[in-house]
Amino acid sequence: MLEKGPARAMQTKTVLVGSLPVGGNSPLSIQSMWKKPLSGLTEELVAEVGGLASLGCDILRFAVPDMGSAEVLGGLARRVAIPLVADIHFDHKLALRCMDFPIAKIRINPGNIGARWKVEEVVRKALDKNIPIRVGVNHGSLPKHLADEADSAAAMVKAAEEEIEVLESLGFGNIVISLKSSDTESTVAANRLFARRFAYPLHIGVTEAGPLIPGVVRSTLAFSSLLAEGIGNTLRVSLSDTSEAEVLTAREILSALGLRKKGIRLVSCPRCGRAGFDVHGFLAKTQRRLMALDKNLTVAVMGCVVNGPGEARHADLGITGAGNKAMIFRRGQMVRSLPEEEAIEFFFAELDGM
Ligand code: SF4
Repeated sequence: MLEKGPARAMQTKTVLVGSLPVGGNSPLSIQSMWKKPLSGLTEELVAEVGGLASLGCDILRFAVPDMGSAEVLGGLARRVAIPLVADIHFDHKLALRCMDFPIAKIRINPGNIGARWKVEEVVRKALDKNIPIRVGVNHGSLPKHLADEADSAAAMVKAAEEEIEVLESLGFGNIVISLKSSDTESTVAANRLFARRFAYPLHIGVTEAGPLIPGVVRSTLAFSSLLAEGIGNTLRVSLSDTSEAEVLTAREILSALGLRKKGIRLVSCPRCGRAGFDVHGFLAKTQRRLMALDKNLTVAVMGCVVNGPGEARHADLGITGAGNKAMIFRRGQMVRSLPEEEAIEFFFAELDGM
């Protein structure tokens, strides 16, 4: 078993998810999960997946509940560059079929695949194709003999250990582990405990974290504790919201912790009765476009002259309301004062040149 022993080191082994390294010294990667059924390989699906990748999604997982979904996912994997993960429960034939395509990883739990020979078939093919397996332990679906354990973190680690033993007994070590609970404390405790004992890379996340606001808060609390201790190699924010929101939340958490240094850093005022410029409206129209830019810049969007010019000057590009006009600042210099309705076009023209 790949254990670290008592001296805790956060270095894990590296697993290749497609061509993306996870673990070791690799940068933290951001994941999300596709939220709709895979009913057909359409151009719209390909474009939406590409859009998520442009926002910073490094790995995208899909539920594969039937053979039709496996076929669509396989076709999609041939069309997009982002590593795709097949999430499979119960039916080992789905895992086998997915591995006929350029799938980057499969998520299965050997315990729910059934007979040993079925697990062996999946593992043999994963070995043959060099496809990693993520074992995803969720507190809500622990095996029966662990479900009533008082120490939920220890029970999750024990469940992971049992799944790892099955894979290792078949000579398989290309493993990523996740230990998730909807409870922040228990998620943190389980990941800490696991990281002390094992050197497999960890996919971290608070599962079923809730709608946007509670989900962001719970995920942020768990991630900041774990990442400050060097625990976690790839992360997913699980929200009852869009995949875009999951990816953008993960980006912000990593940026705020100094662990992600690319992409637009957005500074914006909350707006109040002094605002001469519709900050909320501007952001609603532009945020997705801004976040998809592959530029390492700070952008400020401010409502009025109280704090606006200061923040806008400190940013690489800033816009602020000033009376009935919007002022645009580029690297500390005011470059234009113009009516609000002309601002977006001018703003993005400036940004394009930076
Ligand atoms: S910058 Fe102006 S509009 Fe925005 S919150 Fe501050 S005072 Fe209000």
